This record gives sequence, C-alpha cells and structure tokens, in this order.
Amino acid sequence: MVRTFAFGFPKLGEKREFKRLLENFWKGKLSEGELLKGIEELNLWRASLYAQNGDLIPSNELSLYDFMLDTAVMVGAIPSRFREYNGLETYFEMARGKNALELTKWFNTNYHYLVPELEGESFKLLENKPLKEYRFFREKGYDTVPQIIGLYTFLKLSKAPKRVEEGGLPVVVLEKLDTKERLEKFAQALIPIYRELLASLREAGVKRVHFDEPALVMDTEDYEWEVVEEIYRELSQVGIDIGVLTYYDSVSNYERFVNLPVKALHLDLVSNEENLKNLKEKGFPKDKELIAGIINGRQPWRANLKEKLGLIEELLKISENLTISNASPLYHLPVSVEPEDELPEGLKERLAFAKEKLQELKLLKEALNGNSEALKEVEESEKVMTAVYAENPEVRRRVASLTEEDFRRKLPYKERDKIQREILKLPLFPTTTIGSFPQTEDVRKMRTAYRTGKISEEEYKKFIKEKIKYAIEVQEEIGLDVLVHGEFERSDMVEYFAIKMDGIATTKHGWVLSYGSRVYRPPIIYGDVSRPKPMTLEEITYAQSLTSKPVKGMLTGPVTILNWSYYREDIPKREIAYQIALALLDEVKDLEKAGIKVIQIDEPAFREGAPLKKKDWEEYFDWAIKAFRLCSRAKPETQIHTHMCYSEFNEIIEYIYEMDFDVISIEASRSKGEIIEVFEKFKGWDRQIGIGVYDIHSPAIPTKEEMKAIMERAMRVLPKELLWVNPDCGLKTRRWEEVIPALKNMVDMARELRQEVGAKV
Ligand code: GLN
Ligand code: ZN
Repeated sequence: MVRTFAFGFPKLGEKREFKRLLENFWKGKLSEGELLKGIEELNLWRASLYAQNGDLIPSNELSLYDFMLDTAVMVGAIPSRFREYNGLETYFEMARGKNALELTKWFNTNYHYLVPELEGESFKLLENKPLKEYRFFREKGYDTVPQIIGLYTFLKLSKAPKRVEEGGLPVVVLEKLDTKERLEKFAQALIPIYRELLASLREAGVKRVHFDEPALVMDTEDYEWEVVEEIYRELSQVGIDIGVLTYYDSVSNYERFVNLPVKALHLDLVSNEENLKNLKEKGFPKDKELIAGIINGRQPWRANLKEKLGLIEELLKISENLTISNASPLYHLPVSVEPEDELPEGLKERLAFAKEKLQELKLLKEALNGNSEALKEVEESEKVMTAVYAENPEVRRRVASLTEEDFRRKLPYKERDKIQREILKLPLFPTTTIGSFPQTEDVRKMRTAYRTGKISEEEYKKFIKEKIKYAIEVQEEIGLDVLVHGEFERSDMVEYFAIKMDGIATTKHGWVLSYGSRVYRPPIIYGDVSRPKPMTLEEITYAQSLTSKPVKGMLTGPVTILNWSYYREDIPKREIAYQIALALLDEVKDLEKAGIKVIQIDEPAFREGAPLKKKDWEEYFDWAIKAFRLCSRAKPETQIHTHMCYSEFNEIIEYIYEMDFDVISIEASRSKGEIIEVFEKFKGWDRQIGIGVYDIHSPAIPTKEEMKAIMERAMRVLPKELLWVNPDCGLKTRRWEEVIPALKNMVDMARELRQEVGAKV
C-alpha cells in the first residue's frame, strides 16, 4: 500500500499569526510564555492538517526564527561573542542582535537562513528541541517523525574560522568548510552529538526520524560523499529508523545516495528528470523505502493528478515500498488559495497552495485505492490543467521574431561611454543612491488608505508627488550628482510591476516567509506578459521636471521579476523572461522619449536564480543575460545602470560582464575585501562600478573615513574613472534622520577624494 507524507508546511498560519506573535514578543507586548503558547497552537493546527491528509506527521519543523539557527543551538554552536546561552534572549540575539549571525539565501530559494559559526571543536547537545517537540505532540496524541537538518547539510552551510593572508598579513576569517580536512574535522566533532540526540529520541519512543539533506543535490565531491557515508554509518547504529530527504534538484550521485545505510530515501521528482531516469535505469534497493517527491512544493499549480497516478504506477514497479510526498518543502508556498477571491477569472481553479497540496496527496492515495469520488476529481484536474490559458498572440509573435540584434546595443561600451560622458558631464566619483528613500509611517498609511478606498487615486498621487518633491530637494541640498525619485509608490519592487503587467496575478493573502518574521507575496505569472500602458513614466518625469540634474529611471529587471514570482510551466523560462523583458523595453523607450538620460534596471535576484549544479549554469545565464540585454537595448546616449545585492559575485563575474550595462552598483560594505578581490583577477574590467560604501542594513551613520577606506581599496585595483560612490542598497528601511547625515558624509567624502586626486570638485 502506498503511504503519504508531506513536510515543510508553512509556519505563518492562516492569518500570519506567526508573524504577529513574533513581532509582538519583540516589542514586549507578549511574554515568553504567551509567545510559546501561541506557537503551540500553531503547531497543533499544522499537526491536525498533516494528520487529516497524510500517514506520517513531521515535528520539529516550526522554528521561532530559522531551522539552521535551531540546529546550531541544538549542537551548542554558540559563538563566544554571545557568551553563555541564555534561552530565547541569546537565541534572538544570534538571529537579529547587533552581532547577529550572517543571513544568507537558502539554496536557490528566496528563504534566508542564518549561517552557523563553528568556533571550536567542542559541542554538546545543548537544546534538544526535537525531543521536546516529540514529547509535546505525543501528549496531544500525535506520534510524530522529528524532522532535523542533516549533519552533512548543516556542515556544508556553516562557516568556521580560517587563517588566510590578506595584503601579506595573516588574518582569521570565517569561511565555509571548503577542504576535506576541515569538513572531516567538524564531522568527527559533531557525529557524537547527533548520536546522542538520536539515542535520546529512541529512549523517548521515537521510531523514525528524517534528516533534511538538500546539500546532496549540489555538486558533491568524492571526499564529501565519504563524509556523508561515515555520518549515516554511525547514525544508523543507534537503532532508530532514518529517512534522508533531498530536494530542489536531483541527487548528485544516485548510486551512493540509494546505498546509504538508512531506511528511507526521499527524491525530488519534480525539479528535473534526472532522479526518475536513474530510478528507471538503475533501480532502487529492495530493502529500502522510496519517498517519491511528486507534488511540486515550489510552484502553486494544481497537479495534473491523472499524470501523477500514472507516475505512481510506474514507481510501484521500481519500489513496492513507496511513500508519495511533496518534492520540496511546502514553505515556499502560501498557506491556502481559499481566501483569494479577486484572482483573474479561471485562475483559482488552477492553483494549489500548501493546504491544497496536502489534499492532492490524499486524493492520489484515495484514487489509488479505487475511491470513485477521488477518481472523478483526478479526471477533472486533468481537464483544468491542460486547458490553454491567457495567451496573447502579439506577445508570442514578438518573442518568436527576436533576432541576435535585439540582444545587442547599437554601439560597444567604449563608444557609448564617450557619448554619455559628453551628455552627462559628471564629476570624477559621481555620487548617487540605489533608488528607494525612507518608507516612513505616513507612506505606508497612505498606501493602505488608498488600497482600502479611504482616499481617492487623485489624493494618493498628490501625496506621492509631494514625497518625490521632498526627496529631490533633499538630494539637491546634499549635492548628489545623479538623483532618484525615491520609489514611494512601490511597496515591493516586483509586486509593483506585476500589478501593472498583463499575464501576472497578485494575491491578497499569499504571504510567504522570507526570513525571521519578514514576508512577501510572490506574484503569479499565469499567462503571456505584456505592458498595457507605461508603468513608471509619470513619477519619473515628474521628478525630472523638478531638477536639472539627471534623475534615474528605475525598473526591476526581467530576471528578478521572474525569479521572485511563481511562473507557468507550459512554456520555457527563457520565453517568460523575454516576454517580461519586452514589456520593460517598452518602458525604457518611453522613458527615453520623455528625456530620461539614465535608467537603472535592478537585478538583485540575478545570482540566486542560478541552478544548484554548475553544469546547468550555461543554459541559465545564457537566457538571463539575454533577457537583461533585451530590455536594456537603449540608445547609445542612455546610460544603463544595474544593481545587485547579497550576491556572491566572484563566481559569476564573467556572466555579469556579459550583461553589457554601463554602470553597476553592488553591495560590498560587509564583504568589500572579497568583492574588490574579484576585480584583481578579472582582466580587462572596463565598466563603471559603484561599490557600496554605506551599509544601509545598519542604522549607524557611516563616517567619511570608513567610506573613504573602501574607495581607496577599490582604487588600488580599479581605474578611478570607473568608480561611483553610493550606498550598497536602497534606503527604504532607514529613517530620514539617518539617511541625510549619512549621505552628506558620503558626498563630502567624494569631494575630498576628488581634491586628493587633483580632479575638479
Ligand atoms: N531600487 C531598489 C531600492 O532601492 C533596489 C532594491 C534591491 O536591490 N533589493 O529599493
Ligand atoms: Zn540592493
């Protein structure tokens, strides 16, 4: 008999209860007891959903901040700067205090985890959360399967101190466990802790645990597989059933994976064909349970259940011991489509968020058992999911008729640069900002008032114009060279454009957690994308009318819009990206016609969309680069900027260069050394670049000296004519009281620097 198992259900709750609990606790409006009580309720709610639909109920999934942080705390990896671990106080200190752990992207998703720091080699079972939760659920009548971050994935995503040379001097920096020796050392130190954990669970009556090992889908070397095998050899001796879960891609070495000495193995059969191909060609061990991830955990579409039934039948031939599951955790989806009543006609029927995915698994099982109701639904799902949807022949025609020329600007950079310098007449080290200015309380209030119909469109627009006017005045006063309008009309850089484009839907309640208590609503690309009318023209031209300095047109790039949205699966991603790019190109043309001379196209998600295995990079970057070039095919006179943040540039610098922009601004204030180093290695870098000198993530006001130090470092590897001066990202989360003095210092610093190198101030 086929079993069902779902995991990673979103922790937010139906009404974002999780967010409210956490934020109220941080504000001191809730006691620790009240917070934990609320979390218990959320835990019971999810357990009941799991129990209604599946055969196994996972526990230890609901983290108060992040599951990687939980794992670090579990094994006692508390960096010494936090001193003694003192419960929640230290926990949140590590998560969001002044010296918090580094926050970074979880695989190729938009979830962010905290990077554990492994300082010494002595660990201990400090917080046994899996055990506590197991007992809690047990008391409430649920026998659960603790879901724990696997030791290998934990190690691969952690950092530990390493001695390196920097400018000829030995320094200690935190780095990934990037050598055999380092990986083995920490594996040896942590295996006993994991064994102790398993032993304690076994004592409490746990029969089975699951380890999340998504790191096994990355390129994994021989010595790394040896460590994985060692870990599971050791852990399998404790006498508890172990399941190992992989997701987001196919496992990097199928044979070694299915031969791990564990009871059950989860494979993602959705992200690509590779795992299924291996199952068919190489078979699956008779003595193991196959957990087949057949329901997509990352995209919101209802499955074609008829097709899935066929797949299950095929799988049963390969492994009789079969559990069907979601392919990747469900926390990349909103909780439920139920409350979405304003979607475009016919879309709701096609959607399945987390709750509906649980029901799909159940339905499949019932259909397999011959339940006639379930079988009827299966038939229907096929009809809905194969119907053609929101096609736009004009958009199709435009994409189909693209030629190489559409991806190339008319003049090479060198010539464009000359023309642009003539037009813009900017000083050496031009100063600018990344786009947004403080989204203060009044901005948010007015937006809500407008959305809920309390104020008219006219009133709202008038308010936005006042804000723009203020922002321009402030920038003029400070003396910045290239100005921005401030983005007050935008709540989210992707959603703002999604609302204005045809073929993309936005939801009312479709919140997904990004990190901590931060949520966003990914738009849904469901049809052919186009721009019915200008999207940014009014605000930008208004801003430009107020000043003689250039104001940047401000767009979100096609790759970022696509990567931060859900997308249809009936046409290739490349095509969707080109459709979005063409819509943006229309906007670029309109901005040019209106006299805008500088246009910035943000691509903060350019890196994160890259596939997990390097072999798939060529294909991704090929269309990602082309999509950017397609939308930025402006006149040679127009200076095209792009902006990226939070990225690891080192590996992708060659691809970035291919984007053929004129100027790039990047985040560097926290890892400047690393970023500047890239340009030492990259021979022939000739594009202008703004290395963020002001860390906007911190409320601290940077001094001239700090910022100048970054510029001086950059000047050692890059010609000064290429350097811009700017903060490392948008200023929307900051306050005007912080922004104004910080930017004053920044502009002063640039002036001093010009003087020092003998240029015109
Ligand atoms: N232009 C955007 C802003 O300033 C860029 C945001 C981002 O890089 N994530 O807010
Ligand atoms: Zn940014």
